[in-house]
Amino acid sequence: MDLPVDEWKSYILQKWSLLPTAVQLTIATAETLSDVFLLSSSLLQPEDEMFLKSLSRGYFVGKDPGAPLFYREEGNKKFQEKDYTGAAVLYSKGVSHSRPHTEDIALCYANRSAALFHLGQFEACLEDISRAQLHGYPERLLPKMLLRKAECLVALGRPQEASQTITDLESNLTSQASLALSPFQTLQRNLHHLKMKVQDKEAVTETLPAVLASALENMDLREESEQVSSASSSVSLGTDPSKGRCLVATKDVLPGELLVKEDAFVSVLIPGEVPPLPHGLGSRWDTRISNGDLYCHRCLKRTLATVPCDGCSYAKYCSLECLQQAWELYHSAECPLGGLLFTLGIFCHVALRLTLVARFQDFDKVIRKLCDEINSRAVCVPESKHPVKTLSNGLGEHETSGSAVETPVPGCDVNGKYENNYNAVFNLLPHTENHSPEHKFLCALSVSALCKQLQAAGFQALTAGLKSSKLKAAVAPDLCPDLHIWGVALLRHMLQLQCNAQAITTIQQTGSKEGIVTSSQQVRLATGVFPVVSLLNHSCSPNTSVSFVGTVATVRASQHIRQGQEILHCYGPHASRLGIAARQQKLRSQYFFDCSCPACQTEAHAAAAAPRWEAFCCSSCRALLQGEDVLSCSSGSCTEAVRRDHLAARLRDLQRQTGLARELLRSGELEKAIQQLSGCQRDAESFLWAEHSVLGEIEDDLAYAYAALGDWQKSAAHLQKSLTVVEARHGPSSVEMGRELFKLAQILFNGFEVPEALSTIQKAEMVLAMHCGPCSDEIQELQQMKSCLLDLPPVPVGPSA
Ligand SMILES: [Zn+2]
Ligand SMILES: [Zn+2]
Ligand SMILES: [Zn+2]
Ligand SMILES: [Zn+2]
Repeated sequence: MDLPVDEWKSYILQKWSLLPTAVQLTIATAETLSDVFLLSSSLLQPEDEMFLKSLSRGYFVGKDPGAPLFYREEGNKKFQEKDYTGAAVLYSKGVSHSRPHTEDIALCYANRSAALFHLGQFEACLEDISRAQLHGYPERLLPKMLLRKAECLVALGRPQEASQTITDLESNLTSQASLALSPFQTLQRNLHHLKMKVQDKEAVTETLPAVLASALENMDLREESEQVSSASSSVSLGTDPSKGRCLVATKDVLPGELLVKEDAFVSVLIPGEVPPLPHGLGSRWDTRISNGDLYCHRCLKRTLATVPCDGCSYAKYCSLECLQQAWELYHSAECPLGGLLFTLGIFCHVALRLTLVARFQDFDKVIRKLCDEINSRAVCVPESKHPVKTLSNGLGEHETSGSAVETPVPGCDVNGKYENNYNAVFNLLPHTENHSPEHKFLCALSVSALCKQLQAAGFQALTAGLKSSKLKAAVAPDLCPDLHIWGVALLRHMLQLQCNAQAITTIQQTGSKEGIVTSSQQVRLATGVFPVVSLLNHSCSPNTSVSFVGTVATVRASQHIRQGQEILHCYGPHASRLGIAARQQKLRSQYFFDCSCPACQTEAHAAAAAPRWEAFCCSSCRALLQGEDVLSCSSGSCTEAVRRDHLAARLRDLQRQTGLARELLRSGELEKAIQQLSGCQRDAESFLWAEHSVLGEIEDDLAYAYAALGDWQKSAAHLQKSLTVVEARHGPSSVEMGRELFKLAQILFNGFEVPEALSTIQKAEMVLAMHCGPCSDEIQELQQMKSCLLDLPPVPVGPSA
């Protein structure tokens, strides 16, 4: 997903293996990225480009005239089944394949407005109605849609507009009465009801809930750091001799404090795991729902009412504003290249977008640095020691003004300020020397092919945006071809991304449709570049937690951080999820460093003991079993000893059994599932340590099954046990603990265990606010539960949905 598709990857690696050793060696030992790029791109042959093009054609990204009808019919089927979300998505797919101002697009918008109406999304419904009208919705179908519009306006408490719409509707009906439409009478009847409703409804003044308003205040940085934009004044930029740049606390920081709030410099939505359809085979149309259908491709807002790009079928936005901004900043260049960008992978796409967005910034300095590198190729001066001065022709004005002088901390401006800008992005480390030569070759050929297509599409080159005309002259094509600058910049970004790309995640609800107890899981939504967040170094047990709202990342302290301490976050391998060996391996291969965080140090010294959540217990006395191949009981009086492979086989068998139980659970056979799970639980307790994660998962499943049966007491009892396992593994203030507490709160709420529910809600709120901020959906739901419990009379009533 991050890198090019496998076919292209193996094609290029094959090409690499056939290169003469001398050529491989020249590329492997090239001193600068520009050398790598120039050497590699000179080897890109027309047949390579042909092959890449054939792969790109596997992705269907254009508008298909047959698709709107197909998707509308599929959507209508979902609509009949009352799956309004599914219907809305299919209508959206129809919209994105329609040309503007056609009956196709108008009908798709109109149908989607009906689905949105049933989902209670009245504002979105109204927007779709006006879109349908804008694109020429047929007169003959108008009455039904106008009725829906009036209903929406009533529901939104806008009776005047509703009356106006009804008047329009009436005049429309009289003009069409001669047609003797069969649904005419139904319409008349509905219209009558609606009029009554409007009369009943007094104008309602809308007010922002006070709770929400106060919560919003806690979402912003109280005071911004003067040195680092998007960071709070509790943070300063430092440098560490071994780790390079880092962020340090300037004062004592309490858990939950907001430290960084940064909008992505760029982000690229990951459309989802939808493999390309083999060309020429079967239907080109795909009714599966992916993230690409559910989120705005620019701001990552979740929406069912997307508006598509006029030129392609894959870029969709939440609003016209997002569509226009994306078009101006980058999509006008990307639009015709959709298939190629899918083939070359997300990193290549992010790299391209970085350079496209950079055109709108003052990036002369960066370009000069690049030109400099390219022009100095023959001299072979090492990258880092190479002063800007060598490119003296015509560039004197900048040198004397001082702006070309590098500041001590890379990425900062002349005043030492670090900002979310292209200069900072450019200065993120590419780790050129750490990547394998094959990998650099693959990246270089990929960006080279991309550049050629951009050029073929007649796209304005990177340097067209340069402010200094002298600089433009200096990068004259013969000396330093434009495309080379672009290619080198793209290559640099692609290599940077391996260590600096930030996965933008969101929480998606899973579990029962009825929403009695919701589980949630974190999913990767997009890849973004955040120059300030990138300053954070890694720890396997970090002192912060990172979360996202749209394209904005927030970093909050997850524990007390003392003044002068480094602020750290986890790059992925967390001490509570992976053992030290696996973590070290991952950090070394992806990030090129050996971790020496406190967690790694303690674990390295502890005599290779397996973590508690993978431990076994003695079958006779329940004490912890210890050892390598043969485990013996840790209690002195007991002589029990078991072979590890025997225990491993038992565990595998247990996991097969729990897998069967989960199938039963999914198919709704609750009693059978409980029976099966209880057997698993007894078996698990006889040989797994009480804090073993598998035991916790069984308890969690039992809690789910009982909740589905409405037995809240038993459900809560099992969830409590699962909670102790989660706490032992992830710690009392971890986000995992927060999610589990949230589930327990829902169960206690449903069971009307008022005091327990209230105290659990409070605990869950504290933990989740620390990780997700006070405005997250979960916190708001907890607050609703709380006010519901406090307000309602002490009579058990069914909970509201
Ligand atoms: Zn948007
Ligand atoms: Zn487009
Ligand atoms: Zn570590
Ligand atoms: Zn024992």
